[in-house]
Amino acid sequence: MVLRLNGWLLAIAILAHRAQSQDTKPAEPIVAAANQAVQSRLPFGDRQDFEDATRGFIATTPDTSDPDGYAFLAHEAPPTVNPSLWRQAQLNAIHGLFKVTDGVYQIRDFSSANMTIVEGRTGLIVIDALSTPGAAKEALDLYSAHRPRKPIVALIYSHSHSDHFGGASGVVSPADIAAGKTQIIAPAGFMDAVIVEAAVGENLKSRRAQYQFGTPLPRGERGTVDYGIGKIESRGASGGGPLIPPNVTIQQPMETRTVDGVPLVFELAPESEAPSEMLIYLPQSHVLDATEDATHALHNLLPFRGSLVRDANRWSRYLNVALDQFGAGAQVLIAQHQWPVWGNERVRERLANQRDLYKYVHDQTIRLMNQGFGPTEIAEALTLPPGLENDWSSREYYGTISDDSKAVYQRYVGWYDGNPATLERLPRAEEAKKYLEYMGGSPAVIARARQDFKAGRYRWVAEIMDQVVFADPSNREARSLAADALEQLGYLAESGARRNSYLLAAQELRAAAPSRAPSVPGVRAAVLHAMPIALVFDYLGTRVDGPRAGTRHIVISWRFTDTHESLTSTLEHGALTWIDGRDDPHAMTTVTTTRAVFDSVILGQRPLADALERHDITTTGDAKAVSDLRGLLVDFQPGFPIVEP
Ligand SMILES: [Zn+2]
Repeated sequence: MVLRLNGWLLAIAILAHRAQSQDTKPAEPIVAAANQAVQSRLPFGDRQDFEDATRGFIATTPDTSDPDGYAFLAHEAPPTVNPSLWRQAQLNAIHGLFKVTDGVYQIRDFSSANMTIVEGRTGLIVIDALSTPGAAKEALDLYSAHRPRKPIVALIYSHSHSDHFGGASGVVSPADIAAGKTQIIAPAGFMDAVIVEAAVGENLKSRRAQYQFGTPLPRGERGTVDYGIGKIESRGASGGGPLIPPNVTIQQPMETRTVDGVPLVFELAPESEAPSEMLIYLPQSHVLDATEDATHALHNLLPFRGSLVRDANRWSRYLNVALDQFGAGAQVLIAQHQWPVWGNERVRERLANQRDLYKYVHDQTIRLMNQGFGPTEIAEALTLPPGLENDWSSREYYGTISDDSKAVYQRYVGWYDGNPATLERLPRAEEAKKYLEYMGGSPAVIARARQDFKAGRYRWVAEIMDQVVFADPSNREARSLAADALEQLGYLAESGARRNSYLLAAQELRAAAPSRAPSVPGVRAAVLHAMPIALVFDYLGTRVDGPRAGTRHIVISWRFTDTHESLTSTLEHGALTWIDGRDDPHAMTTVTTTRAVFDSVILGQRPLADALERHDITTTGDAKAVSDLRGLLVDFQPGFPIVEP
């Protein structure tokens, strides 16, 4: 069952036994003063966002499984939270069913993302399905309690991130899809994007997602308050559902379709916030849905969990096209996170601000790159675009200009800063030991770092203590000082993702020992089942222990009777390659099975020997080739260390 959970939830389940809030410290006076100063620097008197976030409120239901989850946000910002992030966390905690305009409704804060419902002539068009079927069901139940019950005629996936499609089975039924009663509409490249993003590096991304979203942290004044554009928790039952593929794909850059009497204009936005994404304009109701390309925040170009770098230039251009094409008519700007903006003038201003945010960080990074500056220098030099510092929706709640500029640098010129002294740096633990040896040993370094901590140089203290911890992870004093510095950085951060990361690092450094959990195959079962067989073998190649495979040469032909797929795989020189769609007469063995059986074996749900014994997998030729190949596949440790070697 655990494998059916999505990655984030799996991570929560694994780490649930961890100590919750041991040894957190108050804000240092320097930090409290800095946070106090934010109060006078930013326009807190402007309450427009609170008006917008509550406008059209119809009703909500209490979260029965978590009644006081974020109730603590009702207080004034404490010294341990940046007041700007605190304000954002308050706004993102406003939940319920809201009327956007006639025929358009949203359910907000029932999950990480929004569900938008457009009322058609005979049924409902649902935009996005939230993270889990349980959350989607609760959202739809709330809607149905206040609006006429109608069948769902279409589910639209705005983009290829799981907080927007993971709950699909809570919205639509396989029978209705098969009977042609429900369209599942997605932007071009949707399935490839979902599968590639989920099949490559899933174990690493799940682990790093804990840092980005703060899932193992307690909530509260010294814990997580938000991840920047919402709360990560989902309402309802926590299980994941199957990945339901689209049956209608938007292919043209600008494509109009009428669904249940409602004209919808889709603007494709590939490689913006997601590899496959689209904006949606509703000309009849004058609503523009910017999905996740224009939210109330500066978004990230490279999330901390890890992904391919997003294209800030195209992201900006899509918003400019939207402004040009829909700017004259749009009266409401909605997104699939957070609250709407009403009024044509404000819609146009918001689109222009967001357009310029991504363009500015893109262009200014390249200007500084060409002037010879490295990524850390560029990150230090750039701030928000001139004139947008006081625009709440441009602020650095999720991405930051600093992190985003590093992403732009990486996209165009990669990890290497051009200085050959950095080409063959020693591995971190080895490097750390040499640094400490040259600096006179850890007691001397810690003593000086304490002085810097007192002076508020937390960034430096975190950096130098990282060296001491990597040289000797058992050094309690170093771990504790590292944790203290990271914690203060967390208290200062305006970005929810940064705060979560800093505070989880502190929590893990203070924990007695890293947690051990059962190893995992590094792919979600729902995604694996949806993968074509060729991609499954690409994924399996990343599980082969290359050095242990050595010079083994294993050629196997595979036939899958349920999906009618076939493929020949070759393991040679530690690399697993394949030819799709045919048998090879020179194969050492031909395997006949079903994808259901095969998937369960590679997920570790069923031993290969059992499947062979019961003839659920049959072979002609050398059967040992199959067990040899299976034996070379490794599993992954989900709680691998990050802040220590
Ligand atoms: Zn999202």
